[in-house]
Amino acid sequence: MKTNFYKNQSLVLIVDDEPFIRTQLRLALERDGYQIAEARDGLEALILFQQLHPQIVLMDAIMPGMDGFECCIKLQSLDQGKYTPVLMITGLEDQESVDQAFDAGAIDYVTKPIHWPVLRQRVKRLIQQSQLQKQLEAANQELQRLVTIDGLTQVASRRRFEEYFSQEWQRMARDQLPLSLILCDVDYFKSYNDTYGHRAGDRCLQKVAQAIKDSVKRPADLVARYGGEEFAVILPKTEMQGAAILAEKICSVVRKLAIPHSNSQVSGYVTISAGVAADIPQPGSDFQDIISAADRALYQAKIEGRDRFQLSNKQSTYNFSIPRWGA
Ligand code: GH3
Ligand code: MG
Ligand code: MG
Repeated sequence: MKTNFYKNQSLVLIVDDEPFIRTQLRLALERDGYQIAEARDGLEALILFQQLHPQIVLMDAIMPGMDGFECCIKLQSLDQGKYTPVLMITGLEDQESVDQAFDAGAIDYVTKPIHWPVLRQRVKRLIQQSQLQKQLEAANQELQRLVTIDGLTQVASRRRFEEYFSQEWQRMARDQLPLSLILCDVDYFKSYNDTYGHRAGDRCLQKVAQAIKDSVKRPADLVARYGGEEFAVILPKTEMQGAAILAEKICSVVRKLAIPHSNSQVSGYVTISAGVAADIPQPGSDFQDIISAADRALYQAKIEGRDRFQLSNKQSTYNFSIPRWGA
C-alpha cells in the first residue's frame, strides 16, 4: 500500500468510546502526519474541542453519556463550531440514523467497518474545504468593510449611507419618531486644491471627516462621505432642534481646526456649510424628499455666505438666517 508521508499540522479530534477504534484511527491518521486528540464521549469532546480547536472531528454516534448526535448539535453552538467539519463514523446504517447525523450538523458520514483509503481522502478534503470556506468568509468580511467604509476618510461610505438611511427611515416610520439629516459641504474646496494641491486636499478632507465624527456622540448616529467634499450625518430619533445644535457644533469644530485656506472668500481658514432637514417619516414614504430638503438648505447656506448652517423642512427651506459665527 502506498502511503503519503506529507507533513500535516491539522489537528483531528477522534471521539469514540471504544479504545480499539480510537487507536486504529489514530495510527492511520498519524501516518498522514495529522496531530491527534482523543475523547471517550461527547462531554469530553466538547471540552477538548474548546481547548484545542481541532480542524476536524471524527465522531462516533453511539456512546455512553452524551452521544454523537447530541454532541454534534452542541458543537454547532460553540464559537468555531459551525466552521469545523464533523465526520460521523458509525456502525449505524439505517436511514433514520443517517438523517439524524446530518440533521445534527454532521458534514459527512462514514460507516464501520472503516474503508481506510476513503476515510483518508474524506478527512483531507473536508479539512481543505473548511479552510477554503474560512478564507472565503474572511475575504467577504473584508469586502463588506471596504464597501461600507470610505477609503480616504474612514467614515461610512455613500453605499452604507443609503443602506442605513433607508433602514432608519423605515424604523422611524414604524415608531413614528423624527429623523434628521445634516448635509455638509466644504467651502471653496476647489480653490483649496488649486492652492495647496490634491494631496493636501485629501488630508484636509480626512481632518474634516474626523472632526465631524468626533462631534457626533450617539451610537445610532452615522457620519458618511456623501460625495467628494460632502459629508452627511444621519440622526435617528432626533428633531430639528437637536440637529440644529449639532450642525452648529460641526461648523464650529471645523472652523476651530484652523486649517489655513488663503483663497477662501469666507476667512483665512477651511470652513463648511450645512443644510439640515428633519421629518417624522410616513409609512411607505420616500426618503429622497428629506435628502432634497437638506440639499436645498445647504444650497441656501452657501448663498447666504457659507460657514453656516440652514434649516429646512420637507417642502421648503425655512428662511431662517443664522448669523455667521466669529464674524
Ligand atoms: P463651494 O464653496 O460652493 O462648495 O465651492 P467648492 O469649490 O467647494 O465646490 P466645487 O463643487 O466647485 O468643488 C469641489 C471640489 O472638491 C472639486 C474637487 O476637485 C474636490 N474634491 C472632490 N473630491 C475630492 C477628493 O477626494 N480629494 C480632493 N483633494 N479633492 C476632492
Ligand atoms: Mg460640493
Ligand atoms: Mg464645496
